[in-house]
Amino acid sequence: MSAPAGTADSPIHRLPGVGPKFAEKLAAAGLHTLQDLWFHLPLRYEDRTRLVPVSALQHGRAAQIDGRVAEVERSFRRRPQLRVAISDAAGDVLVLRFFHFRGSQAAQFRTGARIRVYGEPRHSLLGWEMVHPSYRLLAEDAEPPMAERLDPVYPAVVGIGPQMLARLIGLALDALEGEAQLDLLPPDWFEVARGWALRRALQYVHRPPPDADLGALALGQHPAQQRLVIEELLAHHLSLRRQRDALQQRGAPALRRRGELAQRLRDALPFKLTGAQQRVLGEVEADLRQARPMLRLVQGDVGSGKTVVAALAALRAVENGAQVALVAPTELLAEQHFQAFSAWLEPLGVRVGWLAGKVTGKARQGVLCEIAEGTLPVVVGTHALMQQAVRFHKLALCIIDEQHRFGVHQRLALRDKGLEGRRIPHQLVMTATPIPRTLAMTAYADLDVSRIDELPPGRTPVRTVVLANARREEIIQRIREACLAGAQAYWVCTLIEDSDEVQAQAAESTFALLQVALPDLSVGLVHGRLKPAEKAEVMRQFKAGDLQLLVATTVIEVGVDVPNASLMLIENAERLGLAQLHQLRGRVGRGAAVSSCVLLYQPPLSGLARQRLETMRETGDGFVIAERDLALRGPGEMLGTRQTGLAQFRLADLQRDAPLLDAVAALGERVQAERPEATDALIRRWIGSAVRYAGV
Ligand code: ADP
Ligand code: MG
Repeated sequence: MSAPAGTADSPIHRLPGVGPKFAEKLAAAGLHTLQDLWFHLPLRYEDRTRLVPVSALQHGRAAQIDGRVAEVERSFRRRPQLRVAISDAAGDVLVLRFFHFRGSQAAQFRTGARIRVYGEPRHSLLGWEMVHPSYRLLAEDAEPPMAERLDPVYPAVVGIGPQMLARLIGLALDALEGEAQLDLLPPDWFEVARGWALRRALQYVHRPPPDADLGALALGQHPAQQRLVIEELLAHHLSLRRQRDALQQRGAPALRRRGELAQRLRDALPFKLTGAQQRVLGEVEADLRQARPMLRLVQGDVGSGKTVVAALAALRAVENGAQVALVAPTELLAEQHFQAFSAWLEPLGVRVGWLAGKVTGKARQGVLCEIAEGTLPVVVGTHALMQQAVRFHKLALCIIDEQHRFGVHQRLALRDKGLEGRRIPHQLVMTATPIPRTLAMTAYADLDVSRIDELPPGRTPVRTVVLANARREEIIQRIREACLAGAQAYWVCTLIEDSDEVQAQAAESTFALLQVALPDLSVGLVHGRLKPAEKAEVMRQFKAGDLQLLVATTVIEVGVDVPNASLMLIENAERLGLAQLHQLRGRVGRGAAVSSCVLLYQPPLSGLARQRLETMRETGDGFVIAERDLALRGPGEMLGTRQTGLAQFRLADLQRDAPLLDAVAALGERVQAERPEATDALIRRWIGSAVRYAGV
């Protein structure tokens, strides 16, 4: 490719009026070059091209109004407030409210003065009002012109006012380079472009004409925006692929030897692997034999049997004389894995170690030492395993459960524990939260995906009912009858409050109440504030059938496995998201008995909560639930953007733009095959210095 075009890479400080101080502030926001300004895209638009009479205002829809000050009132009742009533040409009144203002500002508003305001109107009992609108006082005889086009509103840059920023971007746009240099890809590659050359698209989104379709622009669906969106998605896609390719260059220990440990475990299991488990295990083993690192995500609905697949994969590493680390996001889940792994592997003579934050002092030193010397072939734990002090002798496989709760950074931290020269360990990531295909393609493009799409035989679907809190007493009696007939039940207490302590208190008082209400049942309690040994003991008793009813917080959300438990009650179910409800419900329906789940809610229900509970009642299919969840919540929230390290998009919206993703993937293939040199330029343009987590 020709050398990078001069103007795209020109530093911003060459623009007139940009001193070093300014440049510094821009740089802090990641804006270094003209191109960075070209691609600093508006978040939304303000329409100051016309005036709206008060009578035509719509609640929440920003508008510009001309009027005269009719009344000014300052009050200091609870907090200082400035209230300015203005009336428009028709005599209709709009009230402006200011809570932060200077005395001089208040003095500007003289009765009868002409004023032009722009803001978002609200309709209250007292009529129309705007809080902190922008405004301008007009001279009596002046006829100030209207804006000629929509005003773009840019993502703020700390220390630089919005008008200054807009001016700078305007200057940069005046130096926008020609289409030939600007467009990194032949436009005929973009089917969605429909004639929107990149240069034109950029000009349009920064400076939309007055007749632009504001509705389409507000929704991000204008073809000019879509032209940019597809390139942004492509840049992210390529960036993830590149990380992946870089990883694969690094090499990994090829685990070729096939011992007899795995076979012995299979023979010892009380069940046969499902077809789906066998297929996925086959895919994993094929990866492990390679001298390049496996990067595989195993998705399987709750109860699909991911753990045993992980254990068999772990044994393959052990058979090759290497170490395995299994990490889970919560201590309870890690403990469950530790127990399952111990029960399966120890009889084969394979020792399993345990490392969590609460393992301290001598015990910790001991485990760390054994990990470092390699005498401990398998270690299970929490994120404590990812900490600096942990050094492995020969780590060949990292298994990470419930990956979406870990950040990308953490995944990398663990991987680096296996560094050996340039070699890194294989990575197996397990998640029960089905990631809709569309998200898998962008957010997880650096991973291969295997699906365990079959549940072990004999599982019965969980019957779900949704009941108002008023039915509580009745439910308690039904639980009593079921438990006396041999069933076991969970009673899940939920609180929005994220603090372990508050949750624990709520669970403790429910526990006390239920013990009184159900004197003939043995009731247990588990929550996040218990010591690990206490938690493990309660879980052991429940598993052994010594406890009939287990009162729990959402700590039991993931991984807990007690097949005889066939009843679950979830309190305040309206407060939980779909993914969490599905996870929780997955704790029942693991045995042959018909299971039920009662979702108890506190009326009144919001529309969204009602839809969530309806979804839970209608389906048990994790995939359907995930798609519904995505529709209700949007992808950022679903994946926990901050946690996943998934980059923020400027314009793209994974949900809205999902229909483009197939085209993006195809385009990605084409770029890599036909114009690999464009990859760098695209990533630099759209992601730039934001890819700090690349770490390869
Ligand atoms: P998850 O995929 O939710 O992590 P688990 O690995 O905890 O599921 O498995 C759920 C339960 O199913 C466990 O008790 C496990 O031993 C059992 N299980 C796993 N595979 C099979 C199978 N092929 N047949 C019967 N039971 C199985
Ligand atoms: Mg699991």
